[in-house]
Amino acid sequence: MAILQLDDLIDPAATKRLVIKVGSALLVGDDGQPRHAWLAGLVEEIAAMRARGQQVVIVSSGAIALGAARMGLAKGGRASLADAQAAASVGQIALAGLWSALLQGHGLGAAQMLVTLGDLEDRRRYLNAASTLGRLLEAGFVPVVNENDSVATEEIRFGDNDRLAARVAQAAGADAVMLLSDVDGLYDRNPADPAAVMLPHVDGVTDAIRAMADAGSASGMGSGGMVSKLQAAEIAERAGIALAIVNGSRDHPIGTAVSQSRGTLFRPQRRDAGRKAWLGGRLDVRGRLIVDDGCSAALLAGSSVLAPGISSVEGDFARGDVVAVCNGAGKAMAQGLAEYSAAECREIMGLREADQQDRLGYAPRPAVIHRDHLVIL
Ligand code: GLU
Repeated sequence: MAILQLDDLIDPAATKRLVIKVGSALLVGDDGQPRHAWLAGLVEEIAAMRARGQQVVIVSSGAIALGAARMGLAKGGRASLADAQAAASVGQIALAGLWSALLQGHGLGAAQMLVTLGDLEDRRRYLNAASTLGRLLEAGFVPVVNENDSVATEEIRFGDNDRLAARVAQAAGADAVMLLSDVDGLYDRNPADPAAVMLPHVDGVTDAIRAMADAGSASGMGSGGMVSKLQAAEIAERAGIALAIVNGSRDHPIGTAVSQSRGTLFRPQRRDAGRKAWLGGRLDVRGRLIVDDGCSAALLAGSSVLAPGISSVEGDFARGDVVAVCNGAGKAMAQGLAEYSAAECREIMGLREADQQDRLGYAPRPAVIHRDHLVIL
């Protein structure tokens, strides 16, 4: 059954497996303490979903906010990377205890998984995480996932749990993701503008949709604003996963949002198969290939990226790294695994196959990005 509206997310016939992301501002009060009563209401709802036959994965933020309060750190623990990492350490152990106790109250077992961006970017480690999630769900446990903030370094972090939730949903083979946040959903303009209207559905994140995301939409406590939520929606929509942004601030947040139909549902646009979905959701993009119009058109028709169509090469990447393929206007159209390093790409760009061997000193490979390792964005 297709997921067409918000209440399909609580219907086991449409959503067998659901990822629920809980933002820091909901989980932790201004005093730095967990919001126990609110959390108890949410866990009641999760227990009811489980009783109806839905499997649930929780992606929980809040480690940095909780830890910062315990350590007495300024700026909610986000003044420096060292502060954030230490706060995450102190907070994560409390967070795990909190979820475990709350779920246990309903006879549900919690299972903690801390992952880094690298864990999900590397195909082998990603498959490992996927099989652990699958095994836990099959055994009836509720995985509680967060980024392993204490070890992730600045350049290679998710930094926000919105995109993490979308990647976890892919790994878990989930049908849908619900981002519980302190914003109502996506508005067509800055929500502070009285004329702003919330979009109930989005069928494909386009440039017009991206233009609606306002950088001022972050709550201040967590780190994911509307921009990271839209990136999460794009990862999900290509993998056949629905994603909803709902305001979770009320008691029993899921039931309240669903019964009032308040939130924005990004409906899936296509269903890339496992490996292609993983590749399309990869975030650690190391460089860009700018291609000409002929190459752009061929790409959309299902071809590989070939050297003659490349007009410039940006960044420094190695063979096997993810690179973006951009049209002349600089818009990213696809991403895939480079068959050559950046230096080699610069040598052969614009050259016909017959001329590539002289430059490279060896027989050229069939493509710069083979279509099997390429995903249209
Ligand atoms: N992983 C961070 C934490 O647990 C939260 C990231 C976010 O704000 O989305 O505090």
